[in-house]
Amino acid sequence: MSKEPIRNEHDKFRELLPLAAAEALDSTEEALLIAHLSDCSDCAADSERLQQLTANLRGIPTPRAPGALVSRTILLAQNRLVEESAHRTERRIMALVLVLSWAFVAVSWPLAQLIAHGWLSVFGFGFAQAWKSFAVFTGFCWIAGATGAILLAARRSREGRMA
Ligand SMILES: [Zn+2]
Repeated sequence: MSKEPIRNEHDKFRELLPLAAAEALDSTEEALLIAHLSDCSDCAADSERLQQLTANLRGIPTPRAPGALVSRTILLAQNRLVEESAHRTERRIMALVLVLSWAFVAVSWPLAQLIAHGWLSVFGFGFAQAWKSFAVFTGFCWIAGATGAILLAARRSREGRMA
């Protein structure tokens, strides 16, 4: 009969052992636990093991990056991300300009031929001459497109620097 309260206390104190090892108990709980440990060899042994384990864990050197280094790394990563997204935008502009150049050539070439030489030229009359003009015309469109893209990219990077 006298064993029963000790048994109940024992279960209660077993739950406190890890907290005691982590030094997370308040002074009242700690005093009660110490009293129990002197009565209960099981808890005393467990407590000893847990204290030892905690001491060992504390002894392991944990690599901890200094705050300045962490924030510097985050900043670098953000800059890299912004840089990459700027490049992505430039690539998209470049692709759009190229597509537009081709669309412009496809639409305006027959129109230009029509205006300059009339319907016959559109249907392949004097093809060799037309091919040469087409090459020159296409080249002109590409150069205009590329210049536009470069100007856009340059303006974007200036804006990026100012932001
Ligand atoms: Zn106990």
